[in-house]
Amino acid sequence: MELIIDGGTVVTMGPKGIVRDGAIIIEDGHIVDVGKSAELRRKYLRYEKIDANGKVVIPGLVNTHQHAAMSLLRGYADDIPLKEWLEDWIWPLEKHVTGRDIYVGALLTAVESIMGGITTVNSMYHYMAGGSEAEAFAEVGLRGVLGHVCFSWRREEDIKALWALTEDWHGKAEGLIRVSVDPHAAYTVDPEYMKELRGVSEDLNEKYGSPNSPIIWHTHIAETEDEPEKIRKAFNVSFEGGAVEYFDSLGVLGSDVIAAHCVWLSSKDIRIMKERGVKVSHNPISNLKIGSGVSRVPDLLKAGVTVALGTDSSCSNNNSDMFEVMKVAAILQKGIHTDPTLIPAEQALRMATIEGAKALLWDQQIGSIEIGKSADLAIVNFKKPHLCPLFNEVSHLVYSARAADVETVLINGKVVMENRELTTIDVRRVLETAEKTKERLLARLAQE
Ligand SMILES: [Zn+2]
Repeated sequence: MELIIDGGTVVTMGPKGIVRDGAIIIEDGHIVDVGKSAELRRKYLRYEKIDANGKVVIPGLVNTHQHAAMSLLRGYADDIPLKEWLEDWIWPLEKHVTGRDIYVGALLTAVESIMGGITTVNSMYHYMAGGSEAEAFAEVGLRGVLGHVCFSWRREEDIKALWALTEDWHGKAEGLIRVSVDPHAAYTVDPEYMKELRGVSEDLNEKYGSPNSPIIWHTHIAETEDEPEKIRKAFNVSFEGGAVEYFDSLGVLGSDVIAAHCVWLSSKDIRIMKERGVKVSHNPISNLKIGSGVSRVPDLLKAGVTVALGTDSSCSNNNSDMFEVMKVAAILQKGIHTDPTLIPAEQALRMATIEGAKALLWDQQIGSIEIGKSADLAIVNFKKPHLCPLFNEVSHLVYSARAADVETVLINGKVVMENRELTTIDVRRVLETAEKTKERLLARLAQE
């Protein structure tokens, strides 16, 4: 399909900066030209047109930490500490979760994500028979890195699932889907298994991956203050320092690791992350809601670590709104350090776009509006009271805009939402199915 997105302000997040009265030309899913509308309109005469007058076009947002299927449990257990939340609420209910539930939950998250301008989601969940997050994302046309989460107590099952997931989905759905290896955390995956998983990801990459389409690692690191103690207790190991130092002592850290949270870091941890090229998914809303603390983001950035943003699951956030995450990421550090210069708007928007793409090792293809990249775009309607008057588009995007201001979304050049209507799926049906699926899940728990 040949398209011209015409007349809007293009916030490229790339070398061209902001192009006012701009246009983007798309051919076969790729951006082939970006420039002034007056010029491109003449050059690409017969292209199908999307009118972006009064609108702002941004690269699709990249959500680097999700558990997409868990939207089914949105609001199920709030205001509880992480340990109790996992052990008494989430894990007992999750024992009853089927492949079909996972698929339905992921559909709901996929729809919500697109409606909020998110075009790529990095999600960690269980891969099992009967339905998957990958299937849901492919159906809705959402780009994603989908992993299988690994725990010590089901080692054999996990390794089988990782091979099946990779064979079934890596590079599939016209390249929209990639997969990852997801050790849950250092306190649920024993040291030997952690090292074994490093070997598994090497084998998977050899067989199914490529430098342009790697199978990455996705894990949780240093979410709560007591994590080193939890690791020592769980596996009877002794080590000095923090969770990052412990991971590093196993020899498993590398530039293909995206670590969610990274709240409780020592200065040595930060140095190790920089040295190993570990990427951080900062999830400020989830960290605040679970009372985990506030990540040392300014120190990570100062050290040159790639920091991206994530919502975390709808159980701990409780939505998938990256506009909220950008704003909270920007204002949180200002507040606790009493320094309004920290995380300026431009930086927050970078973290939600190009830095997110880098964190997933996908920045050759997505994360900015540049010639040659995939056309993953969100068109934001600025004709709203809370986005008026206009001094600076980036300021409005981070501090004033909401997910509901996103009007049209393209992924891989395909229009997946137009004027807030999804083109790939009936949203009302997704909501009805999700409600019914939740009821059946609760009924199975009650019968236990
Ligand atoms: Zn998580």
